[in-house]
Amino acid sequence: MVTVIDTQRDVRPRHPEKEHKPANPVKKKPAWIKVRAGGSPVYEETRKIVQENNLVTVCQEAGCPNIGECWSQKHATMMIMGDTCTRACAFCNVRTGVPNALDAKEPENVANAVAKLGLNHVVITSVDRDDLDDGGAQHFVETIEAIRAASPDTTIEILTPDFLRKEGAIEAVAKAKPDVFNHNLETVASNYLTVRPGARYFHSIRLLQQVKEIDPSIFTKSGIMVGLGETRNEVLQLMDDLRTADVDFITIGQYLQPTPHHHEVIDFVTPDEFKAYETTAYAKGFLMVSSTPLTRSSHHAGEDFAKLRAAREAKLS
Ligand code: SF4
Repeated sequence: MVTVIDTQRDVRPRHPEKEHKPANPVKKKPAWIKVRAGGSPVYEETRKIVQENNLVTVCQEAGCPNIGECWSQKHATMMIMGDTCTRACAFCNVRTGVPNALDAKEPENVANAVAKLGLNHVVITSVDRDDLDDGGAQHFVETIEAIRAASPDTTIEILTPDFLRKEGAIEAVAKAKPDVFNHNLETVASNYLTVRPGARYFHSIRLLQQVKEIDPSIFTKSGIMVGLGETRNEVLQLMDDLRTADVDFITIGQYLQPTPHHHEVIDFVTPDEFKAYETTAYAKGFLMVSSTPLTRSSHHAGEDFAKLRAAREAKLS
C-alpha cells in the first residue's frame, strides 16, 4: 500500500483539484505485486544525500512502490523545478498548484548529488511548468550541462513534460544531447480526457518523433500504465504509433492508485498479460521493452540503458 504523508496539508493542500471528487476505494493488490521495504544503510545514505542537496525526488513525491529497492542501490530519480506541478493528471500523486520560482542553484546541486552517489546513469525528471515561457527547457539544459561537467562518464536520461505550446523547447533540450530522451504517453489515446487532461496524445508522439529527427543518436523512450480501462487493441495501436515515431524503448507497468481521490484501478493486469505485451512489442521492432507489473520509467534504468546500447550495436553490426 502507498501511504501519503503530507505534513503541509493544512498549509497547502496537495491535490486541491481532487478534494471534492468522490472517493474511489483503493483496491487490494494481488499477490504478484510485492515491494521491498526501505531502511537499509544504503537507503539511508541515499536519503541523506538527497536531503543535504535540497533535492526533490519523484521516488518520494509519486509514492513509488520501488523506492526500497532503488534507494538501496543508490538509484534515485531527481525531480527538478520544484515539487508543484501545473497539470492535474488523475493518476499522479505529485502536488498540484502554483509553483515557486526556479532555484538557480538546482542544476549544480543535482550535479553534486549525482557525483556523490557515484551514478553511472542518472534519470532526471520534472514537474510540468506551463507557467514558464520555455516550459523549463533551459533549466533542463543547464542541469544536463552541470552533470556532464561534474561527472563526464555518467550517462544522462531525461524524462520530460510535453512542452505543449512552448516553441523551441524540444529543440533546445535535444540539442543538449541527453543519452536518453524519455517522454511518457502514460495511457492510451481514449483515456486522455479523463486520465491526462491538459495533454494531447498526438503532440506527445510528435515530440518523440522530433527528438529523433533532431538527433538520431539519442535513444527515445516512452512509458504507459495499464489497468486504467484500456483495451489490448488500444495498447497495440499505441505501440504502432510509437514505432511510427521511431521510439526505441517502451515501458509498461501496472497503475497503482495513490489515494482514494485518484483514478481508480480498473483492473490488475496479470504477469502473463505483461509478458504477452513484451513479446508483441519486440515483434513490432522496439529495441528494448520492459513490461512487468512493477515496471516504472526509471526502474533499472541504468541496466536497461546498457542493454539498449548493446541492442543498437547488434542491429547495426
Ligand atoms: S522506479 Fe524510479 S521513481 Fe521509483 S523508486 Fe526507482 S528510481 Fe525512484
